[in-house]
Amino acid sequence: MYYDVVIAGGSIAGLLCAREIAGDNNSVLVIEEDYEIGTPEHCGGLVSTKGLEQLGIIPFSKTLDHLIECATIYAPNGRSFSIDSKIQKVAEINRRELDKQIAHQAQKNGAVIKVRTSFQEVTKDGVRTSEGEIKCKIFVDARGVSSLIQKDRTGVLSSAQYEIYANWIKKGRVEVFFDQEKYPGFFAWIIPSGEGRGKVGVAGRGINVSNILEEFLEKKGKHSTIRKIFAPIWIKGPIERFVDNKTVIVGDAAGQAKPTTSGGIYTSGMGGMLAGRAISKFLKSDNESDLEEYQKQWRERFEDEFEKQLLARKILERINNNTINKLFETITPEITKEISEKEDFDFHTGSIVKLLGLKGSIRTAQIIIGGEIKKLLR
Ligand SMILES: Cc1cc2nc3c(=O)[nH]c(=O)nc-3n(C[C@H](O)[C@H](O)[C@H](O)COP(=O)(O)OP(=O)(O)OC[C@H]3O[C@@H](n4cnc5c(N)ncnc54)[C@H](O)[C@@H]3O)c2cc1C
Repeated sequence: MYYDVVIAGGSIAGLLCAREIAGDNNSVLVIEEDYEIGTPEHCGGLVSTKGLEQLGIIPFSKTLDHLIECATIYAPNGRSFSIDSKIQKVAEINRRELDKQIAHQAQKNGAVIKVRTSFQEVTKDGVRTSEGEIKCKIFVDARGVSSLIQKDRTGVLSSAQYEIYANWIKKGRVEVFFDQEKYPGFFAWIIPSGEGRGKVGVAGRGINVSNILEEFLEKKGKHSTIRKIFAPIWIKGPIERFVDNKTVIVGDAAGQAKPTTSGGIYTSGMGGMLAGRAISKFLKSDNESDLEEYQKQWRERFEDEFEKQLLARKILERINNNTINKLFETITPEITKEISEKEDFDFHTGSIVKLLGLKGSIRTAQIIIGGEIKKLLR
């Protein structure tokens, strides 16, 4: 069996890559080890509508659940502030449906998708899979964080996310909870899917995410859990090389999820899309520099923002609850208003800079956090 390209991983990055390659009349096979595209879903489903548009996706009505109206962020002592997110147009989408929608786009372009087929290893002239050997010119690794864990565990955090029904979940309102003792280096979240239902999750370094999430839910009040998932998230930013000879690495497998939130629908999806276009070009030209273009283009778009996000993460990992409580005291209604009116969900270090008070009087944050924050302003 021969395909120009074999892609391991039938999720957002792999499927967008397949869509682009097949759209240029190349033969492409996507193999997915799970039994269904989009399942099991391991995602909160938050994405900007602008990001989806850039990925070439107009969500079907069953894909887009609703638009988020505000995000409320809590300090460990319970103090909070809210950002109005109507202007940023952030959607809560159904990832199972989104992945299926992209699978359909790829299939219509001519891609072949096979579920319950897993990639095993690269061979001399193709790949070995659970269904036998397949010859190909290019192999694309789109296996998500599982591909990275094998190479480097240091950037991985554990996460748990439950789908629940609870009358304290409000449609349109995302909630984020910081507490360095409970969720070190990360946070807990509530993402509504509608009134009274949504996804509640936690991630953090060195914690038992299941116990911590149960405690969180216990405190919040009455609820029914209808689904549980446990998944690793990657917070260390992009790997050094996205292209290694005839292997192209895309999406979370290339570390393309945001280091601050680990959100990757847009940034990992862009990785898949840009890689697909570069591979198509290479298949025509046989010129390896065309493959390298993919890494250049992704970095041009995201490198600066990801570097700042990594700095923001470094700061979060160093500060304690006391410091976070103090920082929250410095956040004024003017700051939240400015963020609500101008900031970008995908390139959000501008919001972090404002929240830390770095634009005006830098002193408070600098005294609390130290010199590192200056680098965020560059
Ligand atoms: C709890 C949680 C909440 C999240 N919430 C958000 C959010 O709200 N917004 C956001 O933007 N991002 C969110 N993310 C991140 C987002 O889900 C990922 O960034 C995105 O799914 C990455 O897409 P991907 O295609 O690179 O990899 P993945 O979606 O991880 O897909 C990898 C695919 O490869 C398959 N695979 C693995 N090994 C093999 C193999 N050997 N052979 C064949 N197939 C294989 C897997 O089954 C899987 O389908 C969240 C992640 C988690 C864990």
